[in-house]
Amino acid sequence: MKSIAWHCLHCSRPNRHWVEEGKTAQPVVCTFCQESDYSIEDPDHPFEACPLCHCHQLYVQKDFNRGLGLLIVLGGIVLVPWTYGLSLPFFAGIDWLLYQRVASMVICYRCGGEFRGFPIPARLKPYLHKIGLRHDRTRLSNS
Ligand SMILES: [Zn+2]
Ligand SMILES: [Zn+2]
Repeated sequence: MKSIAWHCLHCSRPNRHWVEEGKTAQPVVCTFCQESDYSIEDPDHPFEACPLCHCHQLYVQKDFNRGLGLLIVLGGIVLVPWTYGLSLPFFAGIDWLLYQRVASMVICYRCGGEFRGFPIPARLKPYLHKIGLRHDRTRLSNS
């Protein structure tokens, strides 16, 4: 299931849009204020540029809940007195396995839109701090 999570330009509330398969030029509408500035031209190849802000810089990230990962590692630490430390590598292993199994998502540097379930082009790379900083700066100077 393809979905897009983003903040609306008009009311800046967090939104989620479920993309319909095979439907071209579908509008992405805010569920709160019904405004729509965006559309998905081709659901199978949406990443020529960000469908929301048309920025050409996007990155790939595991859709992994950091809080959950931390909880698992903490669980391992708490159990150390009873497991003679064996819980540590065990829980770290579970954490690693979970991380490997979760899907990746695409995120836009500029607007922070999150795209889940789409085919990811090979040219997209993980987050680069250098590029992120540049976009942070333009965001700040615009607001
Ligand atoms: Zn809105
Ligand atoms: Zn964007």
